Amino acid sequence: MQHFHYKALPIDVHFGVGKSAKAKDILLQQGYHKVLIITTPGQEEAGHKLAKQLQEVCAGVYPHAVMHVPVEVANKAVEFVKDNDIDCCLALGGGSTIGLAKAIALQTQLPIVAIPTTYAGSEMTTIYGLTENNLKTTGKDIHVLPKVVIYDPELNLTLSVQTSACSGMNAMAHAVEALYAEDKNPIVSLMAIESIKALKSALPVIVKELTNISARQKASYGAWLAGVCLGSVGMAIHHKICHALGGTFNLPHAQAHAITLAYSVHYNRNADIEAMDRLVEAFGVSSREEVGLVIYRLNQSLGIDLALKDIGLPKEGPAEVARVVCDSPYYNPREYNYDELEKLLNKAYLGLPPI
Ligand code: NAD
Repeated sequence: MQHFHYKALPIDVHFGVGKSAKAKDILLQQGYHKVLIITTPGQEEAGHKLAKQLQEVCAGVYPHAVMHVPVEVANKAVEFVKDNDIDCCLALGGGSTIGLAKAIALQTQLPIVAIPTTYAGSEMTTIYGLTENNLKTTGKDIHVLPKVVIYDPELNLTLSVQTSACSGMNAMAHAVEALYAEDKNPIVSLMAIESIKALKSALPVIVKELTNISARQKASYGAWLAGVCLGSVGMAIHHKICHALGGTFNLPHAQAHAITLAYSVHYNRNADIEAMDRLVEAFGVSSREEVGLVIYRLNQSLGIDLALKDIGLPKEGPAEVARVVCDSPYYNPREYNYDELEKLLNKAYLGLPPI
């Protein structure tokens, strides 16, 4: 057997339908008594509902999380937790909310408890992002890793069809790229395949019946596994492209991932044969040539927009993103250059099949 290195991250994970009702007990077990619930403005009401359950353990709801964690928003939140003697931040929401809790933890080292309500996976990683003067930078720090994560599939029931589908495909992208990561290992690859299978079977059910709790449970399970993949191994060109699409053109994160994945996978189809053969099996197709296409067809069946131009990428977008990606080289199992990336992005811009 080859040599591998895999460092598992120390997180307490609770999983199950209705599990968030146990949040108060879980917080007390951890020794947290002055907990601040963080949400986006849109999820403030959900925050107050949770605050009622937490009773005296909750010090309030802070509904100011926004996309991409602007530094000013992070600094205000840091002031707030210091002024109010908070001993734990409870992030109730998606990657944006967890992102604000991480920015607070980065400066204060306050512990995070995360209750994710999308499938984005940030709760399982030491990665944080901050935006200053329209420039998003990311870094890694163990202090931003949540101490506890509570997955409660019931909380996903309010996600729209579009967000459910795109966020689920965002999770799938973590699992797919983990399979051909530079530091891939057999344990994480097992989780990646299991994640892909769970998401691939759950998402088509969810888009037809948003409140199907067993499909929601399967999708949360897939997202949990995908989050572990993202937190455990490096990603490749797909994540780099999506970072540039979001950073340079402010494209919606989950949708950009969902659309681009088919093209990134097709580009890599002959690069890491072992990984691609596992994808062939997981997607039930007969050759590596078909893996990108089957992801494209899955998006189609989920009602996801197929073209980057339809989610806000301007005409000059493909060339600009290709340039940004080439400016700071990133690992990918297949070498790439400006022309190849521009070609890939032009197809994604138009939403053409990736073959
Ligand atoms: P998001 O957190 O921005 O949420 C999208 C919208 O959906 C928000 O308005 C939110 O309030 C709403 N929402 C969330 N859950 C809901 C629910 N259950 N019901 C109704 N509405 C709900 O979107 P996201 O895709 O989860 O996160 C994207 C951000 O997370 C990006 O900035 C991305 O860079 C970051 N991210 C970071 C990591 C990491 O490891 N650091 C990983 C993945 C994503």
